[in-house]
Amino acid sequence: MHTFQFIRPKNSAAAVADAAQAKTAQQGADVRFIGGGTTLLDLMKLNVETPARVLDINRLPLDKIEATPDGGLEIGATVRNSDLAHHPTVQRDYAVLSQAILNGASAQLRNMATTAGNLLQRTRCMYFRDTAMACNKREPGTGCPAITGSNRTLAILGTSEHCIATNPSDMCVAMAALEATIHVQGPKGSRAIPIGDFHLLPGNTPQRETVLEPGDLITHVTLPAPVAGSKQLYLKLRDRASYEFALASAAVVITSAGGNVTRVRIALGGVGTKPWRSPEAEAALVGQPVNQANFRNAAETALRDAKPQSENAFKIELAKRCLTHALEMATA
Ligand SMILES: Cc1cc2nc3c(=O)[nH]c(=O)nc-3n(C[C@H](O)[C@H](O)[C@H](O)COP(=O)(O)OP(=O)(O)OC[C@H]3O[C@@H](n4cnc5c(N)ncnc54)[C@H](O)[C@@H]3O)c2cc1C
Ligand code: SF4
Repeated sequence: MHTFQFIRPKNSAAAVADAAQAKTAQQGADVRFIGGGTTLLDLMKLNVETPARVLDINRLPLDKIEATPDGGLEIGATVRNSDLAHHPTVQRDYAVLSQAILNGASAQLRNMATTAGNLLQRTRCMYFRDTAMACNKREPGTGCPAITGSNRTLAILGTSEHCIATNPSDMCVAMAALEATIHVQGPKGSRAIPIGDFHLLPGNTPQRETVLEPGDLITHVTLPAPVAGSKQLYLKLRDRASYEFALASAAVVITSAGGNVTRVRIALGGVGTKPWRSPEAEAALVGQPVNQANFRNAAETALRDAKPQSENAFKIELAKRCLTHALEMATA
């Protein structure tokens, strides 16, 4: 591993000021925050990430889970994934989030991984993680060998001719369905970013994965007040039962009255270049009777624009079945 300076900033303002000296935005930047380190240290060992300075934010007071005045929940940036998944309020009111986190990684990893770090985890595309290979995300302009190469696990929604990498997070899919907001403290002040606007599509700039600017510190995430009477479910399909990323997953938050769907939020994982909320599928379902045919129709709608690669056409049907089944299980 290359050498780097390890710094413990005294407070958030000092952390932001230090990180603001980075030449580029967070991903790939030469000055980096570190939470649990389960993404960053892995990539540093592979020489994919080579920051000159690493800022340890674990001693900043960002580790609380608290109710907000409007009945929602505030989750600190350094709250560990396991603490979040096992928090009684999360288990009761935001079950889809608890389920999504517990479906990810392993107990040891979840004990280290933080809320902010999970939001910024990077793709598992094998070319990205191998510095002997070309990769537009790691080295812009070098090409995307995945498009003609190994792409079985990669994305079918939101891809571009420059990158087809999947966003691997489970937590983010549940947060998309819960309409989370990400709060950032930066050199120019604080701002709140809806999760749908936080991750970027690859387009011509796959190296830029989020709207974060140099110096931006994620301080916390908020969830709106839970929807009374909603049923929630996270379903993850993968090659083996644990310790594996999603081939397809679905987070659903659904409310019905008199046998008809009154409100639904749908997000997909394992298939998109970002956590994939589907407003089209939601619109197709609202007002319709709660039944398998309508769930399948919503799934068809969600995958309408899917673009398969040479090895992953199977994901289209898999994702449709995943979403249909998740809706059935949630409303059973
Ligand atoms: C073997 C293995 C299996 C896994 N399986 C799964 C899985 O099935 N599902 C899944 O969802 N995930 C999985 N993961 C990924 C895991 O969830 C992430 O590595 C973890 O969530 C990252 O959190 P962290 O705190 O360790 O991040 P770190 O490595 O500390 O940081 C990640 C990124 O976030 C930045 N960062 C951290 N905190 C902040 C902040 N407050 N503000 C701004 N930037 C910040 C860092 O600079 C870095 O770029 C797996 C990981 C491994 C190693
Ligand atoms: S899919 Fe994206 S991350 Fe993978 S090789 Fe292509 S450019 Fe790199």
